[in-house]
Amino acid sequence: MEDDETVAVLVRCCLDRQCFVLNGHFGLLVDRWKSRRKPLPLRKPMEFEESGDPERHFQELVSLAKYGVEKGKVVAIGECGLDYDRLHFCPSEMQKKYFEKQFELAEAVKLPMFLHMRAAVEDFCDIFARNRNRVIAGVAHSFTGSAEDRDKLLLFNNLFIGVNGCSLKTMENLDVVKGIPVERMMIETDSPYCEIKNTHAGINFVKSVWPSKKKEKYDDECTVKGRNEPCFVRQVLEVVAGCKEIADVNQLSKTLYHNTCRVFFPHDLDSVADALLSSSRQCNIP
Ligand SMILES: [Zn+2]
Repeated sequence: MEDDETVAVLVRCCLDRQCFVLNGHFGLLVDRWKSRRKPLPLRKPMEFEESGDPERHFQELVSLAKYGVEKGKVVAIGECGLDYDRLHFCPSEMQKKYFEKQFELAEAVKLPMFLHMRAAVEDFCDIFARNRNRVIAGVAHSFTGSAEDRDKLLLFNNLFIGVNGCSLKTMENLDVVKGIPVERMMIETDSPYCEIKNTHAGINFVKSVWPSKKKEKYDDECTVKGRNEPCFVRQVLEVVAGCKEIADVNQLSKTLYHNTCRVFFPHDLDSVADALLSSSRQCNIP
């Protein structure tokens, strides 16, 4: 089994975390990101059926995840969940069937889940409620739901809500984010997608910008124009701070970082995390 395959089981949040907290030191995890050549297998429940033998496919995923854990590369199972905006890729019945199965995988390898919920809150919550005790914790990332959706997710005390640029597009989005308690929130970029655009409601709170160049004129010192990049997680932080009227952005970042560590990187908590956070204050944010 190649190392490349192990990362297919995931870890997008690694990259954000690394860039967010350790600006200037993200090489290690960028390597993981770059080697993620395949699409995440769990994102496509169809793969269980298409494999011709769903049970064998499941066992292969268990082996893959265990191998990745041993190598220190896999910290979560994901993406898992339901997306009813994309029924053309996979009908809801099949999504539900294998969402259940994905909890079995998380339980088998004792890992938290990286979750996706789009326009499917009722079914998502039904399935999560039935399986919540099988999984340590999870984050419903790229959250774009309503205030009611948010409140339904928050009823599960082992579920966090993940915010990125897609969560900050409209005034209504900002209101929803305002109501997520910081101790139940994580932030991410969803790079290379979901950037905060000039037309988005959250843009007024963005303070950090980086020089950019078109991809044809690629420059190591610049971001690529039109591409969301991991360092932009700082902008997500700024918008969250802005709409929640939190003046102490560093304290907010610390809380969010600890939320992420608690779920995905428990070994990094405490003194090491604090040291990293302290050093990040001198990082090269323009
Ligand atoms: Zn997603």
